[in-house]
Amino acid sequence: MSRANQAKLDLSALRHNLAHARTLAPASRVMCVVKANGYGHGAVEVATALDPLTDALAVACIEEALELRENGITSPIMLLEGCFESEELVIAAEHNFWVMIDNQRQLEWLEQTRLPAPVTCWLKINTGMHRLGVSPGDAAAFHQRLLDNDNTHGEIVTCTHFACADELDNPMTSDQLQQFAKVTEALPGPRSAANSAGVLAWPHSHYDWIRPGYMLYGNSPLKTTHPNTTGLRPVMTLESAVISVREIETGETVGYGANWTAQRPSRIATVSIGYGDGYPRMAANGTPVLVKGKRAPLAGRVSMDMITVDVTDLDEVNIGDRVVLWGKDLPVAEIAQRADTIGYELTTRMPARTPRVIVER
Ligand SMILES: *Cc1c(COP(=O)(O)O)cnc(C)c1O
Repeated sequence: MSRANQAKLDLSALRHNLAHARTLAPASRVMCVVKANGYGHGAVEVATALDPLTDALAVACIEEALELRENGITSPIMLLEGCFESEELVIAAEHNFWVMIDNQRQLEWLEQTRLPAPVTCWLKINTGMHRLGVSPGDAAAFHQRLLDNDNTHGEIVTCTHFACADELDNPMTSDQLQQFAKVTEALPGPRSAANSAGVLAWPHSHYDWIRPGYMLYGNSPLKTTHPNTTGLRPVMTLESAVISVREIETGETVGYGANWTAQRPSRIATVSIGYGDGYPRMAANGTPVLVKGKRAPLAGRVSMDMITVDVTDLDEVNIGDRVVLWGKDLPVAEIAQRADTIGYELTTRMPARTPRVIVER
């Protein structure tokens, strides 16, 4: 038998989560974000499931967009960071990729390049994230130049991105929304602001297009519980199996650095998954895993290929028993918190070494 590690994918959950986003924002069109290999789930698999249901898809760069087109995806695909050189505009025009205009350089490329067809453009406005986007004072001029340009197709969508929408009590989101409303008030065309946190918790951010990513994979980006997150179903369940079980005495230690010490006679199960398989090395002692569906705490440092778990309180544990690291009944965000990171990073960093297996179409 081979190593039991699998990232099981439930694509019906993905479709369910998209439907949930539509229920929350019924008047908005949806751009499903599948960048970074579909947040580690597998971009082609995810995009294929979403293609007939979404209004558009979004990726970070043209290589990611081309991979989807080469695999039969027909929806418009947004390049969220825009083009990195003018030649990419030609490819975008040929493949119905939509482009974000973030700065002067990208605008000039659009004005100066001969394109085989016009492209759909979104204009990113910086309302406080200070990462990408034109400043509010420049937005109207950019917007007009885009409208005047023969290389652009139809309406210009104005958009912005939130810095703190995952924190429900942070005033920054309202500030950003206010700023965005003010800047775009006089500009014609649709608007877009909401990422997953916006879709879930900031109804005023929904506007004409929502841009959910993380929530589609069934996880909540919100720092606190919220009624709108209970309808989400995790798409990825990371599984492994017990490969060894042993009894140790009080005072004996487990693993590299001997950083876990038995406080009582203990039973330790070794599970064949480690940081080389996408389980975070930073996960602290006590991080829960599910052994045969029951919670048991991590005991000892995460190795490259293995972890060790204190199963003293479980009835019976045997070699071959199924272990769930995250997914249904164990939110990835909870594991991420114990590893001082966010669930986004854990799924996105899932290495190719761990096979993705579609269990529900
Ligand atoms: C990644 C991204 C999103 C999606 O964010 P989530 O928090 O995953 O929903 C939306 N908009 C832009 C511009 C992004 O870069």
